[in-house]
Amino acid sequence: MLKNIKELTPKELGDVLSDWNEPRFRADQIFSWIYKNGVLDFNRMSNLSPSLRKRLKEGFSILDLELIKKLESSDGTQKLILRTEDKNIIEVAVIPTDQRVTGCISSQAGCAWACSFCASGIGGLKRNLASAEILEEILYIKENSVDNRLTHLVFMGTGEPMDNYDNVMKAIRIINSPETLNIGARRITISTCGIIPGIKRLSGEGLQVELSVSLHSPDDLVRSQLMPVNKKYPLKNLILACKEYIQKTNRQVTFEYCLVEGINSGLPEAQKLVTMLLGLNCKVNLIPFNPAGENNFAPPGKIKVLLFRDYLIKHGLNVTLRKERGRDIDAACGQLRLRTQNERSENKNNA
Ligand code: SF4
Repeated sequence: MLKNIKELTPKELGDVLSDWNEPRFRADQIFSWIYKNGVLDFNRMSNLSPSLRKRLKEGFSILDLELIKKLESSDGTQKLILRTEDKNIIEVAVIPTDQRVTGCISSQAGCAWACSFCASGIGGLKRNLASAEILEEILYIKENSVDNRLTHLVFMGTGEPMDNYDNVMKAIRIINSPETLNIGARRITISTCGIIPGIKRLSGEGLQVELSVSLHSPDDLVRSQLMPVNKKYPLKNLILACKEYIQKTNRQVTFEYCLVEGINSGLPEAQKLVTMLLGLNCKVNLIPFNPAGENNFAPPGKIKVLLFRDYLIKHGLNVTLRKERGRDIDAACGQLRLRTQNERSENKNNA
């Protein structure tokens, strides 16, 4: 199997070209075709000689994902379902808002952590995505957004990015570079369910990416039920790791908190949350639960959501309330991927 050319950094491609007795600037031209013009066909790279195009075709693959489904919500959010060469289904989202276009990316096919509110964990982990596949997701997002605009990226799709750390970081470094998409690190968010070794590693990268941690409960017992990862990395250790991250990087951490009726959205939880986070350089992002098929969870009513938010603000926390996007196209984590996978296996069984 040929190596995907997107696995290479601009410098690595320059080294290959130099070995082929081609000028290194050809690497910039190739990167410009791929990342700036979205051309994923060596034949169409018209400023390269026919012999170099032939050599590139013989030496590298360039396209590993296939777009198999695209849905657009009434609010402009798009979901793209992509298929890998080995037939795994992954899902990305394009989320336009007034000022930004955010791409939501998957880092793995499936996920090992089985959080109870998330469809991505159903079926377990299939495999890590290669950095070239992650980059290709981003190119699909760009190609499908209005005017090819892409301002922000969040690793909040399928999979736990810290479990595919090296490939995620490689993809980030590539899109961060001026030869490619030049997306600033501050506009890239890595979201983790709380993998402490990953948080520690990230704190030493010297990259100004945003760190977002899914918290969802200030209580170990409840959090372990919602998120099995808590049994391995309990709250006390997780908050300590976040504290150390903040101290080392001087950057704020965002805690994602999905509000579920009867589970974590009452005043006692709000009080515990304040006790746990007060004094930390952090933001709490509240997300009313978006119902995802296989469980009985529901979001609290609007008034309860606002009471929860106002309590946190009144007691000194920095809080945002996430606006729901794309409900009409199954935009919650992993729902559409799961539905597509199920449809595919039903079709296979009926064949
Ligand atoms: S929320 Fe994240 S870590 Fe948990 S199962 Fe879903 S993708 Fe995996």
